[in-house]
Amino acid sequence: MSENVFEDAFNRVKSIGKSAKVSPEIIDGLMHPKAIMTASLPVRMDDGSTKYFTGIRCQYNNVLGPTKGGIRYHPDVTLEEVQALALWMTIKCAVVGLPYGGGKGGIIVDPKELSPMELERLSRAYVRAMADFIGPQNDIPAPDVYTNARIMGWMADEFEAIKRVKAPGVITGKPVRLGGSLGRDDATGRGAYLCILELAKKQKLAPEKTTVAIQGFGNGGYHVARLLQNEGYKIVAISDSKGAIYRKAGFDVDSIYKEKQKSKELKAVYCDHSVCELVEHETISNSELLELDVDILIPAALEGVITKENAKNIQAKYIVEVANGPVESDADQILDDKGIIIIPDVLANAGGVTVSYFEWAQNRQGFAWTLEKVHERLGHIMRSAFDDVWNLAEKEKRSLRDAAYTRAIRRIGEAIEAHGTRDYFNS
Ligand code: GLU
Repeated sequence: MSENVFEDAFNRVKSIGKSAKVSPEIIDGLMHPKAIMTASLPVRMDDGSTKYFTGIRCQYNNVLGPTKGGIRYHPDVTLEEVQALALWMTIKCAVVGLPYGGGKGGIIVDPKELSPMELERLSRAYVRAMADFIGPQNDIPAPDVYTNARIMGWMADEFEAIKRVKAPGVITGKPVRLGGSLGRDDATGRGAYLCILELAKKQKLAPEKTTVAIQGFGNGGYHVARLLQNEGYKIVAISDSKGAIYRKAGFDVDSIYKEKQKSKELKAVYCDHSVCELVEHETISNSELLELDVDILIPAALEGVITKENAKNIQAKYIVEVANGPVESDADQILDDKGIIIIPDVLANAGGVTVSYFEWAQNRQGFAWTLEKVHERLGHIMRSAFDDVWNLAEKEKRSLRDAAYTRAIRRIGEAIEAHGTRDYFNS
């Protein structure tokens, strides 16, 4: 990962904004996070001791609406990373046209080292610290790396207990029975899948002849793999944080997922009732997975995995960024020169926040939508965003990333201009 991921993120906004001829005043408006809160979170551990964790929340930009973005639990969380992720959320919400700005949160913790009850106390402590900072009208968290629906449920409950009101719209990605939306669980993977279907139409890809490698088997990675396999795509490689498995003939994604749920390990084991067999495969490293000769590479883990060092070794024809920020900015040009088409994170993984928006809208309406309605509306938003980005890229002869950022920055720019800019006040 680059030294300063936030610097990398805003340099990208600056250079794309400049080449898209966006006024410097607007770019400048995107260089400054609106507000950041850092808090020490005391948590009673199961052995009776108290441990202190650091919680962060960044509200990056709220020109288009309340700030929106997940909360990540990871030992490598830093303030810079949270700011970068919050900036990417700002761009992402604008790319798909949601009435949101961008935000992000994180706790520096290895959640795998906590018991379930310690995890609950930590999640509630985060909300106690942030209760006056977040809220359904101004800043709405959601799940991210190593956080899930159960954690969102605890957080919503804590917020409501503090405020003494029912306020399900304070957080999205909740369990359905606590006001979550149908279809939120697989929304990130589904959004990426919908982008790939559109890409396949444009590039005339035949699913059964198209090979896919997926780095990361969390919520995003699993669902996009599952949906692509159902469509006939060949999933030849899958990885988790410990390593990767490769099989030329392709894997059965659900068998591997079930095994991972059971043993917590990534194993190519297929079970039929109680009879299990290990299918033949190779074990490779995460970095080898990135360099496989496949058609579609899907980084679905953490940021900064494709850098200027390994970009020249990438053999995939397409990269679909399900993770946030998997490609560092100085690798963009190298990949572009190799003719690799990248569906950028701010478009490819926007399905998650889109269904979060549906959840928030349902919470405000007090009216739950059917799964069909969620899928129909998600399909509409993803397809039209993909088409607009694709057409802009063709028209202005730019990469899809440049086009997506351009679309977002122009949208945010129009909102800033509507308040008045230097040109307005001087004319
Ligand atoms: N953490 C997800 C993302 O990076 C979802 C955010 C949300 O639903 O607000 O897009």
